[in-house]
Amino acid sequence: MTRKNGETKVSASHHAEREIIVRGISASPGIAIGQVHFLRGDVAAVPPRKIAPAEVELEIERLERAIEETRAAMLQSRQRAMAMAGTAVGRIFDAHLLILEDQELQKEVRGRIAREQFSTEFIVYDTMGRTIELLEKQMGELFRERAMDVRDVRAQLLRFLQGGPDAAPEHPDEPSILVAANLSPTDTLHIDRTHIMGIATDLGGPTSHTAILARSFEIPAVVGLGDISARVKSSQTLILNGNSGKVVIAPTAASLKEYRDKHKRYQQLLANLAGLRDLPAETSDGHAIELHGNIELPHEVESVRTHGGTGVGLFRSEYLFLTREAPPGEEVQFEAYFKAAEGMWPGPITIRTFDLGGDKLHPGRSALAERNPFLGWRGIRVSLSHPDLFRTQLRAILRASVKKNVRIMFPLIASLWEVREAKKALDEAKIALRQEGIAFDEKMPVGIMIEVPSAVILADQLAREADFFSVGTNDLIMYTLAADRGNEMVAKYYDAYHPAVLWAILDTVLCGHKAGISVGLCGELAADPLATALLIGLGVDELSVSAGIIPEIKKIIRSIRFADCQEIAARARELPTAEEVRTLLEAEMKRRFADLPIWFTTER
Ligand code: PEP
Ligand code: MG
Repeated sequence: MTRKNGETKVSASHHAEREIIVRGISASPGIAIGQVHFLRGDVAAVPPRKIAPAEVELEIERLERAIEETRAAMLQSRQRAMAMAGTAVGRIFDAHLLILEDQELQKEVRGRIAREQFSTEFIVYDTMGRTIELLEKQMGELFRERAMDVRDVRAQLLRFLQGGPDAAPEHPDEPSILVAANLSPTDTLHIDRTHIMGIATDLGGPTSHTAILARSFEIPAVVGLGDISARVKSSQTLILNGNSGKVVIAPTAASLKEYRDKHKRYQQLLANLAGLRDLPAETSDGHAIELHGNIELPHEVESVRTHGGTGVGLFRSEYLFLTREAPPGEEVQFEAYFKAAEGMWPGPITIRTFDLGGDKLHPGRSALAERNPFLGWRGIRVSLSHPDLFRTQLRAILRASVKKNVRIMFPLIASLWEVREAKKALDEAKIALRQEGIAFDEKMPVGIMIEVPSAVILADQLAREADFFSVGTNDLIMYTLAADRGNEMVAKYYDAYHPAVLWAILDTVLCGHKAGISVGLCGELAADPLATALLIGLGVDELSVSAGIIPEIKKIIRSIRFADCQEIAARARELPTAEEVRTLLEAEMKRRFADLPIWFTTER
């Protein structure tokens, strides 16, 4: 799904402007055609304004009032989001309320007004600005998201301080594509959906809150488009393809026709998919696949369910670090895990222990600069060197397992030693809970992520110590091919269809099956429709993808025969290059799915 930035220029003799194709990251599926409509960005900088000592009390009163008004407006936004898109989406605004109600933050603002004697507006702008800056300095989407939330709350608070919320944002009268540098969840919520057909932003990732909202509202969206907001002009025509992550600026007449046709075919596909929700993910000759969802937040289980997923194959628990400065405590974690487990019950949820480091936060060492963070202090390594942090998480996961549908999984396993150490810590946590008389699932399955080549090589041994495997191709591709998953310069070397990657998946499956354990795949490759038949043919038992993709993958699974998947996999594994593998898959998919309007037959 994820495409890197890049562009193709096509000259169009009959057009004054040249058609430009920009690639970003598909955040919400669908095709939209419309005119550029800009959204006003963040609040303007607030200049420092000194106040007299006698005014301090009054300024603090203004602060309290603005907080109250903002809280009321947020509760309304939450209501509105819930009414429009369901409880799960409404809860996105809980994150904003948490920031607004953060007692530490409020204390800091009050203290600074009294000490420094500047206007409330300035102190709010500056204090929250420092947090935003700190978060934005961190690598990784989780931090950008959190920064975005703080920015959104700051904008709302300042609007009330500066005399009430803005007049209603101007709405376009024509079918339009909303273009912005970045879009906050609040902005997304207030979009006029009668005329906004799509969203294109410079920044953002596929798991951003804005992307989640756009998917819930079924507005096609492409994010991470670089500087699109600076290169398009107001009222210029855009085509936006949320399925492929492509935006066409100033399209030619031929492109417009092509995309109108694609749009029609896509609508047909959606109509076909709607009936699949409650049907099993099994091939036409009866081979069942566990089709699960990947989540970052507990409330996303609702979306997994509504899209027809029967479990969670990956809960990226490190997301819990996002909403707080200090590591989340046992109760906070327990509530999050329990909520997810309860929401998915009786389906399983797989909680991965914190996968910090790499491009994600180091607890208490966020400023730590490693020369090779992806080869550094990451994943299980962080947990094993922080026994307190690890113990707290293990206790919370165990407590949430009481209804017997929780599985635990360890990230970045590179040797047997780590598995044994992690399991030892788990056993210790169990002993303590037993002594305290706290219930948990004694048989909670323990899984291992296979995302380091050494784990593939040792899969035979590892399989004897694990209850299941889950292949994390996002990292496995990176470590196998020595190509950084986040580095544009080596993007072409980072190839999921490289024969070495396919063999690594196959070896893992064979070792797992020999030991009688299930082997899942939860990297982005699982969400690529081109790979579905191949992965099933290689013997993968479970595919875990983001919720919105579940119906398409289910459709493919239900339309193919397991015997054909095996044949495709057998042929693919004989091929020496990624290009040949891809060509084979494209040809096979086109041949077998000629009657299905699935986008890879029309888009790739
Ligand atoms: C992976 O590496 O494939 C994976 C699923 O984990 P993450 O993307 O969180 O590293
Ligand atoms: Mg990983």
